[in-house]
Amino acid sequence: MPRSTWRTWSGTVHCTPAQWLVPTSEDEIIEAVAVAGRNGLPVRPAGTGHSFNRLVPTGGVLLDLTAYTGVVGVDRAAGEVTVRAGTRIGALCAALDRHGLALANIGTLAYQTVAGALSTGNHGTGLAHPPLSGQVRRVRLVTADGRARTVGPGDDPDLWGAVRTALGTLGVLTTVTFACVPQFRLGLRLRDESFDGFTDRLSAWAGESAHGSANWLPWGDRVTVRSVDPTDGPATPRAGWRRYAGALDEVGCGLVGQAGRLGGGAVPRLAAGFGALWPASPYADASHRVFTFPQPVRFLAMEHALPLEVTGDALRALRPVLRRLGTYSPYSVLVRVGAGDDVPLSPAYGRPTGYVNLTVPRQAGQIEILRAAEHVLRAHGGRPHWGKAHTATVETLAARYPRWRDFQRVRAHLDPAGMFANEYTDRVLGPVAAPAPAVTG
Ligand SMILES: Cc1cc2nc3c(=O)[nH]c(=O)nc-3n(C[C@H](O)[C@H](O)[C@H](O)COP(=O)(O)OP(=O)(O)OC[C@H]3O[C@@H](n4cnc5c(N)ncnc54)[C@H](O)[C@@H]3O)c2cc1C
Repeated sequence: MPRSTWRTWSGTVHCTPAQWLVPTSEDEIIEAVAVAGRNGLPVRPAGTGHSFNRLVPTGGVLLDLTAYTGVVGVDRAAGEVTVRAGTRIGALCAALDRHGLALANIGTLAYQTVAGALSTGNHGTGLAHPPLSGQVRRVRLVTADGRARTVGPGDDPDLWGAVRTALGTLGVLTTVTFACVPQFRLGLRLRDESFDGFTDRLSAWAGESAHGSANWLPWGDRVTVRSVDPTDGPATPRAGWRRYAGALDEVGCGLVGQAGRLGGGAVPRLAAGFGALWPASPYADASHRVFTFPQPVRFLAMEHALPLEVTGDALRALRPVLRRLGTYSPYSVLVRVGAGDDVPLSPAYGRPTGYVNLTVPRQAGQIEILRAAEHVLRAHGGRPHWGKAHTATVETLAARYPRWRDFQRVRAHLDPAGMFANEYTDRVLGPVAAPAPAVTG
């Protein structure tokens, strides 16, 4: 049923669709797409709205998948699980846990839908691990012609590649089948390094931990390195509480962000004070409870995927730029790594990747921090995360994706009338079937 205003998690993007539909079966999704087609209305699928940009907004039909949830089946022999598109990653992991199974690698957020995450190139960290798309065995997709089809690696390779990161522009994913692995525990350890030492040997560091990441507060010269590796040891008693250190840290950042409105220069001092209140400590627990942590405070984030070998250089170039601004975000810059993949619109396409993520409080008007950083990351060959804030357009993006035309061919074939487009997809992908634009860098 139509409701009024749809909003993103961050609250910074909203829209009033002509119809806001909440299907609970694949038949209802097929029907919704067919009716929209007959009425000439555009359709945008939506997950939990954890993207920071205008990917979802539409004046047509907003197809909200958040009630189409649950595990369809677990095939232990094949090592795979099939879930409905609106299932939260956290719910999927909890269900797998009950079967003694797990996903091999996920990002930090448990609350997003599997289809939303897949559609924007979601990733965790670990040099042996490609983005989430690399764990997908097949999907079901409802296309503009009102058909549901199963797409897997045995199908047309361009279609199989395109469908695994498509920004909701090829149709509506109804189910996703993931490869899974036997349940495992992860142990987290922390250490401090100098910024110079860390950035000098970033490529070597990237291979040292199965799921390593690093946090750097740009006004400081230290980096906190998190090593996360499989362990046979027991879970730490009360490990559940340790993961709340991340959540408490974010609450602190939210409060400091508010206080920082009085003057950006106050942020480093306040952040140091809050950080000392709940220092993170090592622990071991079920993999999905180490990968993810609750993220209660709403913020804005921008992330770029860079060639791994220039990620250290990019961080070094970022430091003077951020310091010159004289206004700081209380959130640390997050560095993660990942394997490359062969998905045409994957920011990790074709190269081992270093991911650099910047977060700012949404109220503090610190958007200039993101703008300044985006400039530096783009100059180092960065490709923006499709679900996060960025200012790139089709003119700057096309040249960064060697298989851009392959994706556009699939899109023009499946959605020739642009039923699944909106203003934002026009900005970042161009209108359907438009020829690849002249390259502007
Ligand atoms: C607190 C927070 C933490 C995050 N952590 C990470 C992280 O660790 N790693 C990372 O890579 N990203 C991270 N992100 C980004 C996040 O993974 C993406 O923005 C993701 O798309 C959010 O999923 P969603 O369900 O909210 O999708 P939405 O934001 O609702 O939608 C995203 C896109 O998916 C499309 N879509 C949704 N459902 C379907 C469907 N059924 N069929 C086809 N298309 C569909 C939509 O049209 C839209 O284009 C984080 C974001 C937040 C807010």
